[in-house]
Amino acid sequence: MSRTSPSTEPVVELDDVQVHFNAHNSSFFGEQKVVKAVDEVDLTIYENDVVVLVGESGCGKTTLGKTAIGLQRPTGGSVRYRGQDVHDAMDGTGTVNIPFERIRRSLQIIHQDPGSSLNPNRTVLTNLAVPMKKYRPDLGSAQREEVVHKLLERVGITPATDYATRFPHQLSGGEQQRVALARSLLMEPDLILADEAVSALDVSLRVQMMDLMLDLRDLFDTSYLVVSHDFANARYLAEKADGRIGVMYLGKLVEIGTVDELIQNPKHPYTQVLIWSTPMLDPRSAAEMSTDDPPVRSIDIPTPDDPPGGCHFHTRCPVIIPPADLDIEQDTYNDIIDLRLDIEDEDVDVERVWAALEADKPVPSESERSELASEFAVTARELFVDADLDDEHREAIEGALEAVAIGDWEHAAETLRSKYESVCERKQPQLQSDHPVACHLYDTEDVSE
Ligand code: SF4
Repeated sequence: MSRTSPSTEPVVELDDVQVHFNAHNSSFFGEQKVVKAVDEVDLTIYENDVVVLVGESGCGKTTLGKTAIGLQRPTGGSVRYRGQDVHDAMDGTGTVNIPFERIRRSLQIIHQDPGSSLNPNRTVLTNLAVPMKKYRPDLGSAQREEVVHKLLERVGITPATDYATRFPHQLSGGEQQRVALARSLLMEPDLILADEAVSALDVSLRVQMMDLMLDLRDLFDTSYLVVSHDFANARYLAEKADGRIGVMYLGKLVEIGTVDELIQNPKHPYTQVLIWSTPMLDPRSAAEMSTDDPPVRSIDIPTPDDPPGGCHFHTRCPVIIPPADLDIEQDTYNDIIDLRLDIEDEDVDVERVWAALEADKPVPSESERSELASEFAVTARELFVDADLDDEHREAIEGALEAVAIGDWEHAAETLRSKYESVCERKQPQLQSDHPVACHLYDTEDVSE
């Protein structure tokens, strides 16, 4: 069946949206930490649109989805439904041209666990007919029943008259999910948030369910905002719907585009990592990108309550940008940045260096170490920055490591920071307009200062 393409009429607009939470504090005297679950996100969802949000667990995609349909109040920025501020309508403040009841009906959700949206003590018919009673008081019970039967048939639940009398526990997971979808469609929504809605289904049911969602999008003129940890599902949906995939990392939307743009030509280094980790997405690009090691410097994801400054991905990015005045190989630069980050965390294995330096002797005492600091520095540099270095870089690194030898971590870190700090650490990149990507590699103006 030929599919509808998204229109240019916005349904939901998120403008500079932030959702920040106060984290539970584990330490008695510690500072209150703020988790930036969603930070400065702009996103517009159009009529008949499909936008799939992907990213690792904890990246903020579900929080963003719930914010888009008014289930989560943002701590900054605005969410508008057809131009109406959703929370003004909810609170009865400001100018309200669209009542909140209509907004609530127009923005629906289906969950990973359909059981959470179906009342286990009601039959399928009652589960669907009760909410309809509220917004279609003009229909009598026989008419509501007829609508429910038709809709069940439309979502592939047949014979509808039989299924309508069953309770949710008498349905399979796939059938429950179809009923949950039917329940949200009864509200004639403009936008459905599908939060990992197909993740729990096995592969063949998953494809059927995604096809059904797209058929119903055409039939009911609705849009989907899909949250998925599975890049293969994201590609399937976005490609068939002529939609977009948005990639999130630590609360930020770092790239958004069509399947052609994002999978055939991923720009953000983090998008490239996601594609690398899903090789069935595109065998051709997967083969080009495949290496034995993941294309990241570190597999550890920073915690959202303490994201790195500048570009949040800079602690893992394999192409972090060296200062413009440095003549240096990328691999060498990466090693130096990793060494400096370890020095800042006082996480350099000093005893290993002393042991390597004095292989046949006991590890020197504290008082002996300052005399051996320059030898320590040479050995440590060979261990941590395994490359032929110009004198300029060798001297800078060994100077920092001499400070490490005598325990002056701050001086060591500052020595490297002053020479090697990247623009990626200092400045947060913003999404650009054409194939939006938040990465300094694609900045149109010079950001090195
Ligand atoms: S801004 Fe820098 S660190 Fe961030 S993804 Fe781009 S190159 Fe990597």
